[in-house]
Amino acid sequence: MRKLRENLRAYGGLVSMTTVTAPGEEAGLVWDTARCSHPPGESCSGRKGCRVVQGAADLWNESSRMWWRELNRIAKQHADRRLRALGYEKRGGLLAYSWEMQRRGVWHLHIVLGMQTAPEREWARTYVETLRTIGPSKGFGFVDAKPLETPREARRVAGYLSKYLAKWNPDGSIEVSETVTAAGRTLLNYVSRDLTLLTGATMRGLRNARLVWASREGFVDELRFRPGELIAAIALLDRRALPARGP
Ligand SMILES: [Zn+2]
Repeated sequence: MRKLRENLRAYGGLVSMTTVTAPGEEAGLVWDTARCSHPPGESCSGRKGCRVVQGAADLWNESSRMWWRELNRIAKQHADRRLRALGYEKRGGLLAYSWEMQRRGVWHLHIVLGMQTAPEREWARTYVETLRTIGPSKGFGFVDAKPLETPREARRVAGYLSKYLAKWNPDGSIEVSETVTAAGRTLLNYVSRDLTLLTGATMRGLRNARLVWASREGFVDELRFRPGELIAAIALLDRRALPARGP
């Protein structure tokens, strides 16, 4: 959550966030009508508290990460090819993605695409178009292309993404959401390597920052760091801009 937020803030430009959903009843994710609380005859929805049949949800939740790797690979290939055809040297990539547990009991995926430059926008359009056309054959449902028309500032998207992963209470404590506590998904989010290099906000960097914090609070007696790491950890903890390289 912290990693996602810090890194998207560092990107600074315009981004689009779109959502890749699980499929519906046509693909086997049928509603468990025995658990519905609305009157019979009304249509089901996650918002009404309806849930997908547990066995079907479990199966989709287990497989979707592998399916996503495959779909992402293909969409990236299409989008990179499109850039090459237009004469651009650089390849594209997602800035970040993050899984969220939907109310109906299956995961869906938020993806963040860079939209600052012309090649980034071209890459994002081709990428999302491919998700839409190939997604259903790889086990996924609806993918919304509309967000590409209205890019937003990266830090606002970061705020949105971190809000549902954890909520800050007025007293300063953190309440972890169902997305985080739900079992079975260890890799909750992903941040582009280009971005983590830019900010130093890697998992290891964040672990170090927590250690520095723990030491300041008196929970840890001794810190063992390489010099560059300690500085990076303190900078991250205090939210100072990081130097491009350690000393
Ligand atoms: Zn229902």
